[in-house]
Amino acid sequence: MADAVGRGVMSKATIRSVETVPLRSTLDEPFGYAQAWVEERTALLVRIETDDGTVGWGECWGPIAGTREIVTDLLAPIVEGRDPTAVEQLYREMYDAGRTAYQSIVPLPAISGVDLALWDLRGKLAGESVASLLGGRRREDVRAYATGHYFKHDAPLAEQYDRIAAEAKANADRLGAVKAKIGLSFLGYGPDEDVELVRRIREAVGEDVPLMVDANYAYDAATARRVGRAIEDFDVYWFEEPVPPEDHDGYAALRQALDVRVAGGECHTPAELADLLGDGALDVVQPDVCNVGGITAADGIATQAQANGIPVVPHVWGTPVAIAASLQLIATLEGQTSPWLEFDNSSNPLREDLGVGSFDVSEDGRVSVPEGPGLGVEIDEDAFERYRIEEPS
Ligand code: CA
Repeated sequence: MADAVGRGVMSKATIRSVETVPLRSTLDEPFGYAQAWVEERTALLVRIETDDGTVGWGECWGPIAGTREIVTDLLAPIVEGRDPTAVEQLYREMYDAGRTAYQSIVPLPAISGVDLALWDLRGKLAGESVASLLGGRRREDVRAYATGHYFKHDAPLAEQYDRIAAEAKANADRLGAVKAKIGLSFLGYGPDEDVELVRRIREAVGEDVPLMVDANYAYDAATARRVGRAIEDFDVYWFEEPVPPEDHDGYAALRQALDVRVAGGECHTPAELADLLGDGALDVVQPDVCNVGGITAADGIATQAQANGIPVVPHVWGTPVAIAASLQLIATLEGQTSPWLEFDNSSNPLREDLGVGSFDVSEDGRVSVPEGPGLGVEIDEDAFERYRIEEPS
């Protein structure tokens, strides 16, 4: 043991570089939901490399503008030269720097991208999956539900209904659970047309398929209550984002008024989610690892939710980095014998092309949790050439 002292100082990897990778793919056929038309899919990846050549990947939710500069100009100087395994400490330093710089508006999507890359590195340096580092993989695969069922430009209402119902049936056959998008006021229709869309989808998928409904906060609380009561007739599993994220009282009141579960969280900060959970305002909480503050923040929210007996079903929207990170978190969730992965079926070449391998769906609608170290995702950097935005727009 005499030489143990000499070995006492382990050499640790340090962060050599932080790079952002802004990507864009213009869609041939735009699609719409209650708040916007999606004309293009974009992604802002974060690539962090250590001095031993290990690479970690992260992803930032939302627009590239602003977030890219926050990563490179504010957050990169904090983490460069540091030990990437000290993730929670670096998260706190980034959070405090963001709060100081932007008053109370902490740049959480930017912090998320860096945090995910740090977790990826921590896992790769330890030879462990992030789920293992979080305390253990409780499951090796998870059931998935299909997000999709969007609106199209210039289609008559009857055609929207027919097309969306057919898409839902196909997705139900593949995954076993589907989520309807409502809020057709965007197209000039009202809540009655929304309820009819839900009826049509239920009719198409049959009575045994879990059917979620997502309003993307198209309603005020009174309208949401009316729609919520109407869709209860169609055995809806949850009613997602019924009211704007700021309307905490509306969430709480709806949870009291409705029998259908009230879901939300993809547009909330950790502090807001803590308030919503503390107020008993959610039946299902949906933090997004690319938006809420990375694995560090999402894991903390999951811990609080589970302490209150509230199921966690992360919001997932993005590239294979986002999907892999979400699966790592889902693999650790307590108290849910079979949690869900949100499986985005909408058009996204970035999701299809950036990952080596893919997230295949098994015959019984399940997706495997990646087994490799870190997030368990391998990124095809050659694919960046097709999508990279060289100059910020
Ligand atoms: Ca949603």
